[in-house]
Amino acid sequence: MNTISVKRPSFSGVARIKTIVIAGGAGFVGSHLCERFINQGHRVVCVDNLQTGSRDNIASLLAHHDFRFVLHDVTAPLALDGPVHEIYNMACTASPPRYQLDPIHTFRTCTDGAMNLLNLARDKGAKVLLSSTSEVYGDPEISLQHEGYRGNVNTCGPRACYDEGKRAAETLFWEYGAHLGVQTRIARIFNTYGPRMHPDDGRVVSNFIVQALRGQDLTIYGNGSQTRSFCYIDDLVDGLIALMASDEKMPVNLGNPDEFTMLELARKVLDKTGASVGLINQPLPQDDPRQRRPDISRAAELLGWAPKVALDQGLDLTIRWFWSVLNAQSVEARV
Ligand code: NAD
Ligand code: UDP
Repeated sequence: MNTISVKRPSFSGVARIKTIVIAGGAGFVGSHLCERFINQGHRVVCVDNLQTGSRDNIASLLAHHDFRFVLHDVTAPLALDGPVHEIYNMACTASPPRYQLDPIHTFRTCTDGAMNLLNLARDKGAKVLLSSTSEVYGDPEISLQHEGYRGNVNTCGPRACYDEGKRAAETLFWEYGAHLGVQTRIARIFNTYGPRMHPDDGRVVSNFIVQALRGQDLTIYGNGSQTRSFCYIDDLVDGLIALMASDEKMPVNLGNPDEFTMLELARKVLDKTGASVGLINQPLPQDDPRQRRPDISRAAELLGWAPKVALDQGLDLTIRWFWSVLNAQSVEARV
């Protein structure tokens, strides 16, 4: 068990300074949460095993006196000294090719990880939020997907370790909330993109942008008619914080309902980067959902939340970020 000390919270002005644990805080979404909370004056404990996250994502925070990094795998119990007010459980590799590399660990991250963080929340009297996923709907037979839809998931396929792991984690959260009095929150996150996605992450937005910037053909899996709805990272962070601040224990969809085919996404990336490359077809992975689009009416009603950043604007910001990262990498490679 990993035990670390956390400084006592203090109070300054009107805002209450909280100690916030972000499991998976060195990853794409988690690092944006860490940054947001440090900027707001809170104390952040970032817990990560660096499986897909990196110190680069939190480089600007590491020297901050209110930021602490703990190298830890959430499949093992975590003990912290001192108070903890909120826990965001963002720990789980989200890219399909990456989470499929060690499916049993992925499943255990979802289930044992959820249990360990729920136990920490119970012991500390902290609120705890699960980053669940639209994957709990599997390959949905309906559009839009609302929270009451029970999904169409293959329990014995390559995506099951993640999809079923998240479904089991939701059950653990619901039980701890209903029967042990823990203040639980469940966010069902739909495809989110933005700066700090790993260039070799394997997800579609990062793949297309990196391929275009490297002058490579864009890889379309299947015929490219499958759809996704892409949410910009800043909108998601707003939604997660609003959900944590609410009293809602049942799952809430967070995503951007503007829906695109993968061919439409590829054309946008080609237009915006000006890359003179083509599209190449590769086999559609097994159990790849054919459509995905969130019904966000519960989030609007309960949280007053809706995404603000359109795909065109978010892609511009993301392309600019990848451009600077890839340029820096090529400069490093030359020296
Ligand atoms: P990511 O892979 O960039 O980040 C995940 C982080 O968790 C990484 O830093 C990784 O090192 C860490 N991690 C993985 N397993 C761990 C373990 N056992 N112990 C400790 N740390 C561990 O993914 P992301 O896009 O930032 O996703 C964050 C969370 O949001 C995940 O739980 C994911 O399931 C969920 N989610 C994300 C999306 C999306 O589109 N980004 C969509 C749905 C759900
Ligand atoms: N995809 C694609 N080319 C790529 C990577 C992904 O066509 O280089 C497709 C993938 O088959 C899926 C969609 O893009 O239909 C979204 O894939 P991603 O891995 O980003 O997320 P998820 O499938 O988990 O929604």
